[in-house]
Amino acid sequence: MPAAFSDPVWQKPLMAPAFRFGFSAGGAFDVIIVGGGIMGLSTALHAARAGLSVQVLDAGAIGQGASGLNGGQVIPGLKYDPEWLIEHFGKERGEALVEFAASTADAVFDVIRNEKLAVPFTRNGWIQAAHTETALKAAANRDRQWRARGADVRLLDQAEIAAMTGARGYLGGWLDRRAGIIDPLSYTLELARVASAAGAGIAEQQRVVRLAKEAGVWRVSTQGGAELRARSVVLATNAYTDGLLPGLAQTIVPLHSFQIATAPLPAELAASILPGGQAVSDSRRILVYYRKSSDGRLVLGGRGRMALPSSAGDWVHLERALIRLYPALAGIAIEKRWFGRVALTPDHLPHLHEPEKGLLAVVGCQGRGVGLMSALGKRMANYLASGDARQLPFPLSPIRPIPFHAFRQVGVAAAITWYRMLDAFER
Ligand SMILES: Cc1cc2nc3c(=O)[nH]c(=O)nc-3n(C[C@H](O)[C@H](O)[C@H](O)COP(=O)(O)OP(=O)(O)OC[C@H]3O[C@@H](n4cnc5c(N)ncnc54)[C@H](O)[C@@H]3O)c2cc1C
Repeated sequence: MPAAFSDPVWQKPLMAPAFRFGFSAGGAFDVIIVGGGIMGLSTALHAARAGLSVQVLDAGAIGQGASGLNGGQVIPGLKYDPEWLIEHFGKERGEALVEFAASTADAVFDVIRNEKLAVPFTRNGWIQAAHTETALKAAANRDRQWRARGADVRLLDQAEIAAMTGARGYLGGWLDRRAGIIDPLSYTLELARVASAAGAGIAEQQRVVRLAKEAGVWRVSTQGGAELRARSVVLATNAYTDGLLPGLAQTIVPLHSFQIATAPLPAELAASILPGGQAVSDSRRILVYYRKSSDGRLVLGGRGRMALPSSAGDWVHLERALIRLYPALAGIAIEKRWFGRVALTPDHLPHLHEPEKGLLAVVGCQGRGVGLMSALGKRMANYLASGDARQLPFPLSPIRPIPFHAFRQVGVAAAITWYRMLDAFER
């Protein structure tokens, strides 16, 4: 198969450490974590700090999964608003979940500050931009619910959103000041660095191919022939989940999110676009999300085709969206185009599983995992250290493969085309 076309804007710093094969064969650990993205590394950091012996194994290089490729928007909350969560999960768990959801952006910025991570970031908020009256009403409802809980949020009118984004076509929006932006590859690599300094082993190019339980201990085998043992195993493979745990990959619908980055913008243009450095997602069914990078580019993303991209033409729908929002960018070169995988679940919530004692799996962050997985990793580490399932914000659920999973993807592709048409009508 030819390699897919992908050229991310986020670049590995020259001084970034490599995480080599560093464990002794037959090594035994309290926890082995499969997957070295934000979820795996946040779990590793906090578990190591709690005194557990930890080994992370990643099939590729650290940052090659969604964690190093994403838009770097650090957004608190889940897809659902507080009242829905309480109605759905009941008062006690629902309230705890709302509190957890409110804290997920803090989890990122706290670790950056406390661990002194070298990560470019700005914490000036996230704008959910509304292009229809219906979207404005939803924003007002969300605003009411979060403000009642003391969150630093507010509604924006048409003039305010135009001034804050410099973009065309919005009726208003919602500003969540708890949010911010980071360089996601630096964040992931820095998490790996501090997890390693805290005592966690981190090994790249180590695909785990088999899990077996023997006398209450998990035996973990890698493609290269290494055999390790652990009391607990955490699968933090998310949208890149393979067949390691039967049925798990069939619980999610993996989709591609594509992104583009312009050349660094001339000073005058840069000053008129997102002058406050906020992140934006819009309210379209097939939404676009955007922000500026620390070197002054506009970085914009949205859903991409299901097949692997093969040429720059596969990003042209994002270039059109960019010019629709910012006609003044028409002459500016698009220098970077890349993509990554996100995992959707049918109920749009992350799923936590423990199909057998000591075997845990986390999947599904609906394209909003930077804050979520940072916070969830800490809770997972607490669970591993204490055995108390109340540490987990979401209930542990059985692995339920989506019926007709293979056809579901075809359905999603058709739905995306249909939603794009509806969005085009509302322009
Ligand atoms: C293009 C794009 C843009 C996004 N934008 C945003 C955003 O702006 N804000 C936001 O909050 N979220 C965003 N997301 C979502 C966010 O990136 C993810 O939710 C988050 O990074 C998931 O982290 P993770 O650690 O769970 O998974 P990943 O970072 O994907 O890590 C999974 C790892 O598992 C490894 N793996 C898989 N199978 C095996 C195996 N058998 N053995 C060993 N290793 C294995 C993979 O190599 C991979 O490194 C975006 C995602 C994409 C793709």
